Amino acid sequence: MNDDGAHDFLATCDDCGSAYAATLTDDGDVLPLGARNGCQCGGTSFSRVSEDDLTDASDA
Ligand SMILES: [Zn+2]
Repeated sequence: MNDDGAHDFLATCDDCGSAYAATLTDDGDVLPLGARNGCQCGGTSFSRVSEDDLTDASDA
């Protein structure tokens, strides 16, 4: 394990909800690896998706 390296995670476009594998920049911004210039819809704002949100465990 290399805890000080970039950690990939899932992020979604704030405009259309498209999901991308993403990482964090040194500034702490979300950088979609598959959409470095922005989403296919033109959006440039992305939100990190918690792995917990990927499971439908509403009774947790
Ligand atoms: Zn989008």
